[in-house]
Amino acid sequence: MKRNPTRSVRVGSVSLGSGHPVAVQSMCATRTQDVDATVEQAEAIRRAGGALVRLAVDSPKDALALKEVRRQTSANLVVDLQESYRLAEAVAPHVDKVRYNPGHLWHHEKAKPVAEKVGFLVEVARHHDLAIRIGVNCGSVDPEMKARFPDDDVAAMVASALEHCRHMDELGFERYVVSLKDSHPRKVIEANRRFAEARPDVPLHLGVTEAGIPPEGVVKTRVAFEQLLSRGIGDTLRVSLTLPNPRKHEEVTVGLQILADVAAGRYRSVPVFDDDKLNIISCPSCSRVENERFVELAEKVKEMTAYAERHALTIAVMGCRVNGPGETDDADLGLWCGPTHVNLKKKTESLGAYTYDEILKRLKDELDALIEAGAAGPAR
Ligand code: SF4
Repeated sequence: MKRNPTRSVRVGSVSLGSGHPVAVQSMCATRTQDVDATVEQAEAIRRAGGALVRLAVDSPKDALALKEVRRQTSANLVVDLQESYRLAEAVAPHVDKVRYNPGHLWHHEKAKPVAEKVGFLVEVARHHDLAIRIGVNCGSVDPEMKARFPDDDVAAMVASALEHCRHMDELGFERYVVSLKDSHPRKVIEANRRFAEARPDVPLHLGVTEAGIPPEGVVKTRVAFEQLLSRGIGDTLRVSLTLPNPRKHEEVTVGLQILADVAAGRYRSVPVFDDDKLNIISCPSCSRVENERFVELAEKVKEMTAYAERHALTIAVMGCRVNGPGETDDADLGLWCGPTHVNLKKKTESLGAYTYDEILKRLKDELDALIEAGAAGPAR
């Protein structure tokens, strides 16, 4: 497979970039503090061929649990820092890489310059022999970048990633990779192509975030990965699927299959993703899910909305309060799950919180109203 000449970044026992095989990774959806379940899932991902296993750590208790997870698994571990970048210090002894989101970093300790916060993370990474991922997500790009590119969210994503690369470069830290994710394959392709052109040296982690339930989630991901991998772009990848915990490792199986197909020239996707249909996006879930009915809800939303299939609308179903509120802003209708209630939104407007038993009926009412009002255009 043709590969871009990126530099080599070591993460535990694997190396990314510079012609090393494209590494497939996944993320645990178990509660990090449930050590037994997390170890079991990390091992299932590793056995399926996952080169890296990511975990979410949002509290000192999660960080403590991580120490035990590390002891019980031989998987290369990555920690996703969302809630507090300062937790990096507590998790660093037990992992091989940390991922931070520039958008979330911007919001923490706002008075402090972003470069200083990046400096802290780099210091920790250096001290503990870690790699870093700069993980930009379209739904949470930092507000300054959004303001600079109000009509081009791909440009905002790429500019944010490039800015953080500059921070790393100024600190003389080279052991980093970048990801630019969106739930739409077209934007993922565009963002990664633009970034790879600007920084051909930086290894890229590919992903279509909130791709949803298989098989549609697999199709969206395949469309993006085939277009990028065939151009030599991509050094590691994750397939984000909404799957129940016992099937989470299937993300790796799908990722390996896509890689094998691209390497053999077996392309299955059409180059354009159909924008004229109902688009349901749902997050792959992770330890932050507060009610396990989330996956079932995502499946029921897909079933219930089948009648609207030919209308060009987007419905987003997200598992938690960390990313749910922001990542549903662009959807025509958005649901994000809390412990007992599901929050319903129409674009950025909140329509209230409903129990898991009430929400489908409310969603249908809103969907019907949008169709009635012609918001989705005529059925195709
Ligand atoms: S929306 Fe929340 S639960 Fe879903 S993957 Fe993102 S952080 Fe995890």
